Amino acid sequence: MTDRVFDIGVIGAGPAGLAAATAAASVGLSVVLIDAGSQPGGQYWRHPDEQQVGETDHAGHHDWTTFTTMRSALHTAMEAGHITYLPDTQLWLIDPVKEATARRTLRLTNSYTAGPEQHIARRPTEVTVDQLILCPGGYDRQLPVPGWDLPGVMAAGGVQALLKGSRTVAGRRAIIAGTGPFLLPVAVGLAEAGAEVVSICEAGAIRNWLPHVAAAAQVPSKGLEGAQYAALMAKHRIPYRSRTIIRAIHGETSVEAVTTCKVDSSGTPIAGTERRYEVDVVGLGWGFTPSLELPVMVGAQTRRDVDGSLVAVVDDQQRSGIPGVYIAGEATGVGGASMAVAEGKLAALTAAADSGRPISPRDVSRLQHKIKRFRGFAVAMHTAHPVPEAWTGWLEPETVVCRCEEVNYGDLCTAHEELQADDARTLKLVARPGMGWCQGRVCGYAIAGIAASLCGREPSEEDLRSQGKRTLASPVALSDLAALNNEIHL
Ligand SMILES: Cc1cc2nc3c(=O)[nH]c(=O)nc-3n(C[C@H](O)[C@H](O)[C@H](O)COP(=O)(O)OP(=O)(O)OC[C@H]3O[C@@H](n4cnc5c(N)ncnc54)[C@H](O)[C@@H]3O)c2cc1C
Repeated sequence: MTDRVFDIGVIGAGPAGLAAATAAASVGLSVVLIDAGSQPGGQYWRHPDEQQVGETDHAGHHDWTTFTTMRSALHTAMEAGHITYLPDTQLWLIDPVKEATARRTLRLTNSYTAGPEQHIARRPTEVTVDQLILCPGGYDRQLPVPGWDLPGVMAAGGVQALLKGSRTVAGRRAIIAGTGPFLLPVAVGLAEAGAEVVSICEAGAIRNWLPHVAAAAQVPSKGLEGAQYAALMAKHRIPYRSRTIIRAIHGETSVEAVTTCKVDSSGTPIAGTERRYEVDVVGLGWGFTPSLELPVMVGAQTRRDVDGSLVAVVDDQQRSGIPGVYIAGEATGVGGASMAVAEGKLAALTAAADSGRPISPRDVSRLQHKIKRFRGFAVAMHTAHPVPEAWTGWLEPETVVCRCEEVNYGDLCTAHEELQADDARTLKLVARPGMGWCQGRVCGYAIAGIAASLCGREPSEEDLRSQGKRTLASPVALSDLAALNNEIHL
């Protein structure tokens, strides 16, 4: 417990949260920075444990200087007492506001990264803040495919997280499939670490970028990054096959092989184009999807973004519309680390201005201009790499969709046909997908898509929101719930 009230609570120490916390401290606000990870950096700057390998190991990271500059600013602000940094700490509940203020109590617990010492010497179980900047990031978006529940099939981000976080290579012979530029660093990272990558299967087509050349040219650094990956793919002889998907994954006790096939522009498989590859690891990535449990918990509005994921709605200064709550980074729309940094800084400046601190209007418009450029690039990327509309046609009745509750596609079809489940929420209620340990984080996007396709319509915001609403932001011990002491009605 702590009695201290902070001006701002920043959730997440990824690109957006680090930028927000350091910017807020630099204009004189007291900040508590809460992050489930053990060290700052989030997904983008995930790196091996500094206590073990020191500072130098940042192979495969881009914009590393941006990170080290913000990390130095964090350390300086911590020493000066302007930022209280709580790593290994999960925010699991945000209490409703008290009376007419925007003051909120944040309920904390040790995150899964906390070691046994941290579990004994527990951190504060709650902190109180006057304003809140939510930067919870996102995670890999997944689509089920026959055999994807075999050991050896991983999210592409999981394959990369092993490499970035502990230099662990997920397998010896890999195939990477899905859509979007993120497939490239994953494949190249594996090859650089000594694995053989037999193919990148991209469901889209390179020519999809043609109508978006102008938007892409607004962010030249991305083009340069793409060229670097292309050179490394040539060096490691990694074939790049567009309009290609993994149709099925085979194996007895773990992955042994995959069947790929060509698809048309809607994602419908083209008969006779099947190919088989022997592999021991499969990385699947269909873009990212924001973590929205905290924005939804405080009542923030959401919308379906151009990539089909649910995102939090903010104004052009990162205000969520809920007094005292600002949102930045991946949660407002998937757009990459540089945009997340700019949004984090802007959120801090807006929060400072809203609490009566002087800020520079020039800084605000500079950041807004930057965000607009990055957003333009993100829209181009999402439009060029859509999730194929016909993807549910790849499923067999026995394909597992919800791995936690072992609900397969046939169960969902039955729930629709016999119990009139016409939306994602009703499917969840009657067939239990998304009710297990991960609470729909892995299958939620797919359930929304399946519900829509069974009814012959587009997925709606409500289909997605019903999968993203969670009373608690993470699993907690019963003792944490008991400590609420009847103060809160969940
Ligand atoms: C697995 C993965 C790999 C990626 N790899 C690349 C890449 O190679 N190249 C690239 O350009 N982009 C990559 N991206 C995208 C890039 O990481 C993001 O654009 C960027 O990190 C967004 O920054 P952020 O601050 O919004 O979120 P994040 O970096 O995701 O940071 C969010 C932070 O919030 C914390 N958090 C969330 N909820 C809570 C809570 N309730 N309590 C406490 N802490 C919480 C998380 O632990 C995390 O540290 C990747 C994304 C993912 C998910």
